[in-house]
Amino acid sequence: MIPYVREMDFAYGVAQQISPLIRRVVANNPGPFTFKGTGTYIVGQGEVAVIDPGPRDDNHLRAILRATAGETITAILVTHDHADHAPLAQSLAEVSGAKIIGCAPHPDAQSPPMGVEEGLDRLYRPDRTPFDGDVVRGPGWALRAVTTPGHTANHICFALEQEHALFSGDHVMGWSTTVVAPPDGNMTDYYASLRKVIGEDFRTLWPTHGPPVTEPGPFLQAYLAHRLEREAQIVGVLGRGPAMIDALVGEIYVGLDPRLQRAAAASVLAHLFHLIRVGKVVSDGRPGRESSFALAN
Ligand SMILES: [Zn+2]
Repeated sequence: MIPYVREMDFAYGVAQQISPLIRRVVANNPGPFTFKGTGTYIVGQGEVAVIDPGPRDDNHLRAILRATAGETITAILVTHDHADHAPLAQSLAEVSGAKIIGCAPHPDAQSPPMGVEEGLDRLYRPDRTPFDGDVVRGPGWALRAVTTPGHTANHICFALEQEHALFSGDHVMGWSTTVVAPPDGNMTDYYASLRKVIGEDFRTLWPTHGPPVTEPGPFLQAYLAHRLEREAQIVGVLGRGPAMIDALVGEIYVGLDPRLQRAAAASVLAHLFHLIRVGKVVSDGRPGRESSFALAN
């Protein structure tokens, strides 16, 4: 049986063995989007892969190097280009000589609105972009790329075949539903990527933030149901007449903490884009904060 580590049990900067093949070091960057901090995973022994090196933080770089002392880092895998995941990849590549593997940012990628998510790492440049199903191997481990756009256009998860586990990045987080904020976030893609992971029947999900998901099936179905319920609420409000985003947020998120207003508006916009794509909703002009939305005839 895998000795799961509860989220409260870690100390910043100290690697913990959390499964036969996986160690985790948590960066000291707790916050509203990172929970306790970025969990950097080290896979294998001797010749290892590092997944999501984390933010630009010398202490965290030293912690990763301390954890892998006497070993060789052969691959640096990055789930997506947010500033709490990718920036340290470059420093780690320079020290170790390992290649950075991840999806290049979409050329039109933009940081989400302030206060909604971590910003983009504008300097992120992977050496190699894996195709869906591409495998990176080391002694005793194989990591398969599972493309999962939605949270960002370039999001990718990595499946550890030996443990039927998935490093789920921010696509599936252990402590909260993920943020899907346009323009980089796309709800239509997110639905498809969620169903893709549900279809794989993993035993464990290891998110970059928060505790592991040990019963992925019901957990992911609940996330999907939550989004579909939100979508039904939006359709319900529009059924009473056209509305703008702030009015929709006011109706749907009753008693919302004002600090979460922008995040809620971004999420509602992501749902509206999806509803427009599937032909259920129309907007007058370019969909955004200033436009009005109505049910399609
Ligand atoms: Zn992210």
